[in-house]
Amino acid sequence: MYIVQIASECAPVIKAGGLGDVVYGLSRELEIRDNCVEIILPMYDCMRYDHIWGLHEAYRDLFVPWYGGTIHCSVFCGWVHERLCFFIQPHSGDNFFNRGHYYGSNDDYMRFAFFSKAALEFLLVSNKRPNIIHCHDWQTGLIPVMLFEIYKWHGMWQQRVCYTIHNFKHQGIAGIDALWGTGLNNDLYYLNYDRLQDNFNGSAINFMKGGIVYSNYVNTVSPHHAWEARFSDIGYGLGHTLEIHQHKFGGILNGIDNNIWNPSTDNHIPYHYDKDNLKDKVWNKKALRERLLLQDCDKPIIAYIGRLDDQKGVHLVHHAIYYALNRGAQFVLLGSATNQEINNWFWHEKHHLNNNPDCHLEIGFNEELAHLIYAGADMMVVPSNYEPCGLTQMISLRYGTVPIVRGVGGLLSTVFDRDHEADRPPEERNGYVFYQTDPHALESAMERAIGLYYEYPDEFKKLVTQGMSCDYSWNNPGDKYMEVYELIRDF
Ligand code: ADP
Repeated sequence: MYIVQIASECAPVIKAGGLGDVVYGLSRELEIRDNCVEIILPMYDCMRYDHIWGLHEAYRDLFVPWYGGTIHCSVFCGWVHERLCFFIQPHSGDNFFNRGHYYGSNDDYMRFAFFSKAALEFLLVSNKRPNIIHCHDWQTGLIPVMLFEIYKWHGMWQQRVCYTIHNFKHQGIAGIDALWGTGLNNDLYYLNYDRLQDNFNGSAINFMKGGIVYSNYVNTVSPHHAWEARFSDIGYGLGHTLEIHQHKFGGILNGIDNNIWNPSTDNHIPYHYDKDNLKDKVWNKKALRERLLLQDCDKPIIAYIGRLDDQKGVHLVHHAIYYALNRGAQFVLLGSATNQEINNWFWHEKHHLNNNPDCHLEIGFNEELAHLIYAGADMMVVPSNYEPCGLTQMISLRYGTVPIVRGVGGLLSTVFDRDHEADRPPEERNGYVFYQTDPHALESAMERAIGLYYEYPDEFKKLVTQGMSCDYSWNNPGDKYMEVYELIRDF
């Protein structure tokens, strides 16, 4: 099958979070299964060019219709760790992708409406006719809309769209003027409850809703989160739309790329290990301590890696730091915040804890350090408010780092409490789960984990090994996506 992924991220060249990992990992898995996969991305000025091999201009003069005229673009092509990627570079005064960041501009909805238009125009004029166009999150929600309303009439009537929602919180809600450049020119038609009208704000359009309404199949990234999105407020207002389109909506758990996240080959860690040779994990712990200037002692290291955002339960992350320190553990945090208040708060904590030999807070994004923390830590806290899938707990399991998670979304589908998971036999349990959002719930789970570490080290080691035996690779999700593609493709 010929599959084109269109997204705003692809790791490691463009990565702000899990979306980038998923686009890369899924593409790789699909290629292993003999599909032809191409990825279309914006050409951001700040992406990691050092991860692209053979970058060259593939299409010089792509004229993308925009408002009454056109915007001249170039399309570059290169391999990102063996995946074929096309990067769209507009030459216009808007400087859509030369902002020094991926997201966070006031005109983000314009930037990604343009990117979506340009990606379709590129497929059209370069005669690419994939069986499946796979779009991700609000940034590409207009693609199925334009495909069905415009490009179908230009010869792209056989293309089918799978639309994956990684986070319902960001939906791309904008004024109707967001459509004016794209050629979707009938305000009354689109500003309709059955099409793009936002379910709360009747005078706004919603990119993600457009993606749901117009795609052939829609999924979010875990079965449990698919349920939450329909039946709780986690769908952020799109629950009714999902209800209407339930016949084409489901949940497919993400995987992790076992090639990248592999403690027995990982280039970013000094000592390789696996579940049959676990003793070398401790050398990574020493290396992590050296790198972060923590004291060398027999305490466990508890870590947090992730965005510092309300979604991730920052108040509980903050509480976990102090609880760990009081309870005789060390704490390492690697996180970045786009919210200024949260950023200031954690910088303040960083200064406050600066001289503490048991704690290091690293504020920023650092892929290499993340690998070392996964390998060197003993436990990972993931106290999210909501979590569509979550990759950190799966990566932690792979690196023998015991996850302590809140039981929501994908966390509930991947982590099984050592003491309380009645539905699983003891040998399939792999971590600790708590449910409430208050500090006591978190404390009780951390207490059980730290207690096991100190008092029953052999049992703790057994839990680590059980976690490392879990298979959260792309193998299973790869099957599921192939089933979806087969279901919707046009023969
Ligand atoms: P989300 O997509 O909501 O940010 P996920 O758990 O799905 O969360 O994916 C997070 C991914 O981003 C993981 O690969 C994690 O290791 C990585 N990550 C998150 N924050 C950082 C950071 N500050 N530095 C390095 N990697 C990070």
